[in-house]
Amino acid sequence: MATLKAVRGTRDLLPPETVLWNHIEATARSVFARYNFGEIRTPIFEDTSLFARGVGEETDIVSKEMYTWEDRARAQSEKSQMLTLRPENTAGVVRAYIEHKLGETGQLQKLYYIGPQFRRERPQKGRYRQFWQIGAEAIGPQSAGSESPLRDAEVLEMLATMLDELGITGWTLELNSVGSAADRARYNEVLRAALEPVAPKMCVDCQRRAVTNPLRVLDCKVPEDQPIIETLPRIADCLDEDSRAHFAAVRAALDCAGVPYHLNPRLVRGLDYYTRTTFEFTHGGLGAQNALLGGGRYDGLSEAIGGPKAPGIGFAIGLDRLVLTLQTQSATTPDQKAAPPQVDAYIAPLGENMNAPALALARELRRDGLTVELGDGSFRLKKSFEAADKTARRIVILGEDELQSGILTVKDFASGVQVKVARAELVEMLGK
Ligand code: AMP
Repeated sequence: MATLKAVRGTRDLLPPETVLWNHIEATARSVFARYNFGEIRTPIFEDTSLFARGVGEETDIVSKEMYTWEDRARAQSEKSQMLTLRPENTAGVVRAYIEHKLGETGQLQKLYYIGPQFRRERPQKGRYRQFWQIGAEAIGPQSAGSESPLRDAEVLEMLATMLDELGITGWTLELNSVGSAADRARYNEVLRAALEPVAPKMCVDCQRRAVTNPLRVLDCKVPEDQPIIETLPRIADCLDEDSRAHFAAVRAALDCAGVPYHLNPRLVRGLDYYTRTTFEFTHGGLGAQNALLGGGRYDGLSEAIGGPKAPGIGFAIGLDRLVLTLQTQSATTPDQKAAPPQVDAYIAPLGENMNAPALALARELRRDGLTVELGDGSFRLKKSFEAADKTARRIVILGEDELQSGILTVKDFASGVQVKVARAELVEMLGK
């Protein structure tokens, strides 16, 4: 029989690497808590039309990367339905915002999520078909200040703090404004006109985009197209007074808080719902897939999927890429936090009739907060010592004599010293 493997573009995460994943998630949760964001968990699959309407039919994600299937009706009373594994989480969060009428609270909703997303992209380093995102959204009625440039600046400042706390060095914040929906429509027309004479000289993707979605041309990575793209009109020149003032206020707040950024007029991002502020944090150590995270404002998304007006801003961090970055960094500067936990003691039962008392002892020690590995009474003593030496700081030997007397034999591997310890003093001794 052919051996079964994880599906292309998916992978298993094993210890000790998962220690680093947990460390990153815990740091993110701690930062979110300090900014008063609460956790939301939405389903991993949704009605396909949520993404078609929310993310945009013309985007790469919706047009070619979604995992979609027909969920057949199981009874006469049911209808079949087209379902999709979520390719991103903002649409799901906004759907939940509408469904639970969170806007009616009148409060700004500050929600974060951590979970897997699915896109059928060509797998490569830093790009997977199942990948993980840590993201957040600040969304609410206008009266709650959801449209304020301060929200944008606060979210960006939070991200800078999070990356700093994670120990990521050398990130760059790339910042742009894509304007309001009206600005974008105007810019699209200006771009379309500018692209008409030059598109035939560009790559096939750009030729198509020049007609269907001219903004996407700015995302093109083909080297030969770059000189042409450099000559295209910039969105900054199409922003109306309001959008200009909004963007200036975001920048002023970042300047005041001391968050460095780099203006990138070509940053338009791959999802249709973005308006005004858009951003990416990039990292040089990642190679071709250099975006650590991306996000922006989506003032019309709620209405696009049938909800009330609810301006918002959010982002999604690629967790896989955070891990890669930290792993690359720690190759030069070892990161203690990412080391596997120390096992305090290895309990070696001498003979199979000592297995049950060994479990009782392990239970006691673990309940007292120690990390304990439990051996097996079928092992010879030499084998127990070898196994213990690989995993734990000390070995505790539990034989018939020890059980009767309540005096255990403990060997410390670092010093090589072997001592007798009364059971009552064991926790204190092992914890040292
Ligand atoms: P997006 O939802 O496309 O704005 O992506 C936000 C972030 O998610 C990106 O900056 C990446 O860090 C990460 N990301 C997106 N697609 C993938 C993928 N296929 N594999 C790994 N990470 C991804």
